[in-house]
Amino acid sequence: MIKVGVIGVQGAVSEHIEATKKAMERMNINGEALWVKKPEQLREVNGIIIPGGESTTISRLMQKNGLFKLVKKLGEEGLPIMGTCAGLIMLSKEVMGGTQEQKFLGLLDVKVNRNAYGRQVDSFEAPLKLAFSSEPFIGVFIRAPRIIELLSNKVKPIAWLGDRIVGVEQENLIGLEFHSELTNDTRVHEYFLGKAI
Ligand code: GLN
Repeated sequence: MIKVGVIGVQGAVSEHIEATKKAMERMNINGEALWVKKPEQLREVNGIIIPGGESTTISRLMQKNGLFKLVKKLGEEGLPIMGTCAGLIMLSKEVMGGTQEQKFLGLLDVKVNRNAYGRQVDSFEAPLKLAFSSEPFIGVFIRAPRIIELLSNKVKPIAWLGDRIVGVEQENLIGLEFHSELTNDTRVHEYFLGKAI
């Protein structure tokens, strides 16, 4: 029985819970995906997902309810954590375009530009190449951050849009510019669950 906690303070929470459950079914894993609002719900989880949404709000609410400190500690201890879009911003060590009061977990050795795609290209879908699967994956980008630099050689690319890196992993961590939870394709969630089982 495995448990995955989806940080549920703001953003695309239910979509991640559904995608995680579907991925567990497809992998034949007995498990559950929890909507996490309080630190005590993270007791005994095997993995954490930080969804997309608004990173300023997610950061503020996670600090307020004590999730920020605990998620940072668990990530440092090696618990698998996947962040998508605003979740990637939360995981990153360096953020361009962050606000003064915005604090980040600083776990993933990447530099991201928070609103890099700009207003003209608000949202789009595109086929991506994945490191762990031969078929393309449709990535949904919504006011996405852009990974502009890998800050250590611990970080490995796992997803590309053309020749640009749009997803990375670093040991227990996965960070994605795109939303992996908005299509019926659960390959990215399955890859993440592979770290958690
Ligand atoms: N641009 C948003 C932010 O800075 C992220 C958008 C998203 O998660 N879809 O938080």
